[in-house]
Amino acid sequence: MRQSTFLVPTLRDNPSGADAVSHQLMLRAGMIRQSSAGVYSFLPLGWRVLRKVEQIVREEMDRAGAQEMIMPAIQPSELWKESGRWEDYGPELMRFKDRHQREFALGPTHEEVITSIVRDDVRSYKELPMTLYQIQNKFRDERRPRFGVLRGREFLMKDAYSFDRDFDGLDESYQRMYEAYTNVFTRLGLNFRAVIADSGAMGGKDTHEFMVLTNIGEDTIAYSDQSTFAANIEIAPCADEYSQQDGEAEELREVDTPGQKTIEGVGQYLNLPAERCIKAVFYEVDEELVMVLVRGDHESNDIKLKHVLDAGKVEAASEELIRSTGKTVPGSAGPVGIEGEVHIIADNAVKYMVNACTGANKEDVHFVNANPGRDFTPDRYEDLRVIKEGDPSPDGNGTIQFKEGIEVGHVFKLGTKYSEALGATYLNNEGKAKPIVMGSYGIGVSRTVAALIEENHDENGIVWPKACAPFDVHLIAINSKKEDQRELADRLYEQFSQTGLDTLYDDRAERAGVKFKDADLIGIPLRVQVGKRAEEGYVELKQRANGDAEEVHVDQLASRIG
Ligand code: ATP
Ligand code: MG
Ligand code: MG
Ligand code: MG
Repeated sequence: MRQSTFLVPTLRDNPSGADAVSHQLMLRAGMIRQSSAGVYSFLPLGWRVLRKVEQIVREEMDRAGAQEMIMPAIQPSELWKESGRWEDYGPELMRFKDRHQREFALGPTHEEVITSIVRDDVRSYKELPMTLYQIQNKFRDERRPRFGVLRGREFLMKDAYSFDRDFDGLDESYQRMYEAYTNVFTRLGLNFRAVIADSGAMGGKDTHEFMVLTNIGEDTIAYSDQSTFAANIEIAPCADEYSQQDGEAEELREVDTPGQKTIEGVGQYLNLPAERCIKAVFYEVDEELVMVLVRGDHESNDIKLKHVLDAGKVEAASEELIRSTGKTVPGSAGPVGIEGEVHIIADNAVKYMVNACTGANKEDVHFVNANPGRDFTPDRYEDLRVIKEGDPSPDGNGTIQFKEGIEVGHVFKLGTKYSEALGATYLNNEGKAKPIVMGSYGIGVSRTVAALIEENHDENGIVWPKACAPFDVHLIAINSKKEDQRELADRLYEQFSQTGLDTLYDDRAERAGVKFKDADLIGIPLRVQVGKRAEEGYVELKQRANGDAEEVHVDQLASRIG
């Protein structure tokens, strides 16, 4: 590709409003452009990387025996009403009407569509198990799209769905996907952990999130520095999941609360039924949504689990709330003196345990000074342990560290939730109709591109790992006006193309400094610089990652970079 006619509009300065490094670099390297909030075009350079990542995902899915297909983004409301999610999914679902006033949604995920296909076309146990997947743009009207393509409203996802005869089969399908995910993120060279996620209100038992450990991210991961042990202290995004599944989610403004002014319209108040009663309090602090989530039965003050996104922020928010309303408990939702600790419960899920007070943002629906042992029954959580940063890892290997994480993938045992709701059954070997047992598996492909940049950059720009670099080689004619340089570079470009090396050729009539700056920014792993010694047939071979450079004769080039 000749750079003179390649659409790669690099920017010298950091664009305003881009907080995440990956967002800045994707804009500056001319990979993406914003179209509206959370909606981006991938320009040719970005598209190449996206396709590389997509291809790795595809290869691993295929290797795991999954079958690729494609489903429509446009989904009829009828299907979503069958599953109950037309109501439950909440404002994240992008809805619209056609000219006949029929209701539709743009797919944020495809459980309904795929289940309806399998319902109609799979009949017998002989056709199972089966895993189907697609790689396609998804639509979610995120409450706060941010960090570029890390949290978009339209984004590329690989979503897979497994169909089994029974739960043992599901365990196997799940394991296969788990391994495929491990392969994908290993091939991409990401520093990731598979983390036991919160399955609470989702109904299923097993679910893992694949988290890339970074310095930015909306989740906090507790992990061992010497083993694979890892657990999530997630929570804010969880609100969506709870409301999707069980919730009678109300807009906060509908809740009569002293904190109304501060929190109006920024979240949802969750009040779930009986044994899974969940209360959440949301605060907006410095434009960050902070949430305290309590799971428990408020009648008996039996608090089972609590989550705190950021104890410090919650505390500050509650103080502000109490100050501005002049109220303390009862009557306000002020958590007092929150102390966040990570607890591991039996199934290894990690939660923050709040030793203080929290509760629903409603009169008399909150907990004051809740303490394990006194206010809830720890005997139901015999394995409950508290770990802090620096503690020994529960598996005996290494020390617990905390780090922020980006969720790049999620595997989930759905069970029969959708097959029962939509009536997807098969006939077993005795001719009896049984609900198909399902799993669902997502990878955020576009988010993964950003996560890769979060992990692979320096002060000058992106440093692509080989596996997902947009080109293999960046060929630079340092001074294209010099005939010998241009001629040799032209010849190498021809030669590289013939040997199948994907080459970006900087043939522009730009100053050397500009070319080098752009090359650093774009971050192609290997650079071939044609300069002063062109006439003698020498070029410079330079590694983007460590800056190592050496002079190589063109006759030696093929063996060096082939
Ligand atoms: P999050 O917790 O970040 O909101 P999620 O749990 O809602 O993500 P899933 O429903 O598990 O997302 O979707 C599968 C994958 O799709 C996620 O693991 C993530 O990598 C990706 N993804 C989800 N939402 C977005 C988004 N708004 N922008 C980019 N990628 C996303
Ligand atoms: Mg999530
Ligand atoms: Mg989400
Ligand atoms: Mg998820």
